[in-house]
Amino acid sequence: MYDVAIIGAGPAGASAAIFCAKAGKKTVVIDHDLSITRRAWIENHYGVPQISGPDLVETGKKQAEKFGAEFVKAQANNVRQTPEGLVVETDQGQYTARHVILATGLYTDLAEAIGLRTKPGTEPRIKTIVEVDSQGKTHIPGIWVAGTLAGVSVHTIITAGDGAKVAINVISELNGERYVDHDVYKPAP
Ligand SMILES: Cc1cc2nc3c(=O)[nH]c(=O)nc-3n(C[C@H](O)[C@H](O)[C@H](O)COP(=O)(O)OP(=O)(O)OC[C@H]3O[C@@H](n4cnc5c(N)ncnc54)[C@H](O)[C@@H]3O)c2cc1C
Repeated sequence: MYDVAIIGAGPAGASAAIFCAKAGKKTVVIDHDLSITRRAWIENHYGVPQISGPDLVETGKKQAEKFGAEFVKAQANNVRQTPEGLVVETDQGQYTARHVILATGLYTDLAEAIGLRTKPGTEPRIKTIVEVDSQGKTHIPGIWVAGTLAGVSVHTIITAGDGAKVAINVISELNGERYVDHDVYKPAP
C-alpha cells in the first residue's frame, strides 16, 4: 500500500513526487515516458539559466528518487475505488494507494476512463482539462490532478509549481495539519 501514487513524471508529476517522498510518504510514480517536455529547450525557468527538456525531466526524476520515490515505466489505464484504497491498474500490474495524483499532461484518456469530470481547456493548444477545485481535488475522493491536465499555464515553472502545491495539500491531508518543507542554508564556516 502506497501513501501516494502519481501518474506522470513530467514537471508536474515529478515535482509532486519530490515533495511527497521528501515528506516520508511511500510514493510510486507511474509513467509511460511520452512527456512533451522532452521536446522543449527552456530558458524561462526561474533559477535555471537554460536547460534542455530531457535534462529537466531526468533531473526531476533523480531528485525524487533521492528521497525514495519509486518510478515504474508503465501505462496506467484506470483507477478504481475499493475498500482497501485506490487501485491503479497498469499494463505492468496494479498499485494500491491512499491518494492518487494525475499529472498526465495533454493525455486525458486516463481521466476519462476513471470518469473524472472534464471541460474544454483555456490555454493555447490545450483541448481538454479536468475539473478541479483550488486545492487540486477532483469530485472523486482521494483523486487529485496537477499541471497541464488541471488547466494551468503550460510552462515548466508553473506545472512544476502546481505539482508541488497539490503534493503539499495531499501531505497535509495525510498528516492532519498543514505541511511545510523548509531546509536551512548553513554556509561553510
Ligand atoms: C516544443 C515545446 C517547447 C516548450 N518550451 C517551453 C519553454 O521554453 N518553457 C516552458 O516553461 N515550457 C515549455 N514547454 C512546456 C513544458 O515543457 C510542458 O509542457 C509542461 O511543463 C507540461 O508539464 P506536465 O508535467 O503537465 O506534462 P508532461 O511533461 O507532458 O508530462 C506528462 C507525463 O505523463 C505521462 N502519462 C500520460 N498519460 C499516462 C498514462 N496513462 N500512464 C502513464 N503515464 C502517462 C506522459 O508519458 C508524460 O511523461 C514546451 C513544450 C513544448 C512541446
